[in-house]
Parts: sequence; structure tokens; C-alpha cells
Amino acid sequence: MLAHRLNDVREGIATACLSAGRNPSEITLIVVTKFHPVSTMRELYALGVRDFGENRHQEAERKAEELLDLDKRLHFVGQLQSNKAAAVRRYADIVHSVDRPALVAALGKASPEILECFLQLNLTDDPARGGVAPADLVPLAELAAATPSLRVMGVMAVAPLQADPREAFARVREASELLRTVIPEAIRISAGMSHDYAEAIAEGATHLRIGTAITGERPPAS
Ligand SMILES: *Cc1c(COP(=O)(O)O)cnc(C)c1O
Repeated sequence: MLAHRLNDVREGIATACLSAGRNPSEITLIVVTKFHPVSTMRELYALGVRDFGENRHQEAERKAEELLDLDKRLHFVGQLQSNKAAAVRRYADIVHSVDRPALVAALGKASPEILECFLQLNLTDDPARGGVAPADLVPLAELAAATPSLRVMGVMAVAPLQADPREAFARVREASELLRTVIPEAIRISAGMSHDYAEAIAEGATHLRIGTAITGERPPAS
């Protein structure tokens, strides 16, 4: 089942790339394994998956410890409290949810080593959703650019539930262009989930965060 669904998604990505005139080699598929056991992650690894996404600190930390033997990248994609920043840096390879000055500061000072990160954009009017308001993206980018231990890869966003995803991802593309006026090498876009990755690819996404389309329904929170 897992192999079958993974294959379907890989084919879906190839098809979406073809119609967008893009090369699938530009795309990183991150399988979001939150709530799923490490045994599922090992199965995915055996199927060639090297990028895993997690959104809860304690769960991610435990899984990282149990999977130290795998040559993988762990992407932290969930909302992150500043007081957890140092702990997350110890196991996460990439943080997708940098969205406010206090978090930039906390991540920046936690270690001198380079941490790759995305600046998360909020496409809704609800601050509880996480992400920086588009109007505040440039100052946040300037702060991150001035933080030696952070390497900003690009923008990250979640399409709002009620919105047309293509339109939402077009806004992400605009934000990406704006970000590049501050950090020219921050060209990546982390966007697209199980139900909207084709639209994200059409608008330039480079990092897809896909969960249920590959893992099946998530088990209840433990
Ligand atoms: C859970 C999650 C995903 C994956 O969602 P699916 O709909 O299961 O593909 C992607 N991004 C973030 C930030 C998530 O929390």
C-alpha cells in the first residue's frame, strides 16, 4: 500500500511537472510522517525516501533519536516556540516555519553552525495559523539575512482551506520574488500538500510536504 501510494504521488509530481514545463529534478518530495511510527519511516526509507517532515517537537526529537542510523534529512514543518528552538536545532536539518523575529533570534544564537530554513508566510488573516504577514516579510528577511548561522532557502506556505490553491500559491510566488530582492539566493518555495501539490508545482514550488496521500490517514494523536 505504502509503495503503491508513494509511486502514485511520484507519478503525479512527474505529470504536474510535465504540464508546468518543469524538470522533476527541481522538486524535493518531503514525506510528512507526523503521528506515524518510525517503522513506517523505515519502510519509506527502503522505498528511497530521504526527506521526512515532522511538526511536533517531542515526537520529532524521539524519532530523530530512533533513526540516527538512516542517512536522511529531517524537516521541521510545524509551529515552533522560541524556547524550543535550541532543542529543534539539535536534530532538524531544515526548519520550514521561521515566522517571527524572536524565533530568528532564538535559532540564530542557539548554535554557530549553519541551519537551513524557510520563512513561513501566513496567507490567511488569522495570526494563530502561523507565518509572517506578507507585509512583514521583508523586515523578517532582513533580520534573518543578518543572522550568520541561518541560511534562508526561500518561502514556505500552507494554502488556506477555503481558498483556490492556485491563487494562494500565486501569492507565494510573488512573496518569493519579494524575498529575493533581499536574499537573492533564497529561490526555493516550500508549498503543496496531499491535495494541492499539482497547483503548487504550477506556481514554482520546489519542496512539497506530502503526508496522507502517501502514508494514508494519520492515526490519532498519541
Ligand atoms: C501535516 C502537514 C503537511 C502534510 O499534510 P497532508 O495533507 O497530509 O499532505 C504539510 N505541511 C504541514 C505544515 C503539515 O503540518
